[in-house]
Amino acid sequence: MRPRTSGAAVRFCRENVYIRDNYTCQYCNTKLPAKQLTLDHVVPASQNGPKNWTNVVSACRECNQKKANRTPRTANMPLLTEPRAPNWLPTLQLEISEDHVPPDWAPYLRLSTG
Ligand SMILES: [Zn+2]
Repeated sequence: MRPRTSGAAVRFCRENVYIRDNYTCQYCNTKLPAKQLTLDHVVPASQNGPKNWTNVVSACRECNQKKANRTPRTANMPLLTEPRAPNWLPTLQLEISEDHVPPDWAPYLRLSTG
């Protein structure tokens, strides 16, 4: 789950799609917490739409249901932005690991874990 820190493309996964889309439904522009977002296939899986960066967007449940198994065109629900593979690193997921703890802190941290 840890983000890569150099070079490679951003891994395709639910959370990274949400981050790319700024946790915003790509149909109605509503910003929502991750728990209330869904992944929507732009070209539905039932029409052989692939599961990748350019065919999957964040959508609220309402829009996802409304769009159902249709493309944005046939559903008359245009996307706010064209989905594409991101070229950033997901810095929002930074976490503190023991490797990055200042040495002076270590004795105190170890105390708490026994
Ligand atoms: Zn929506």
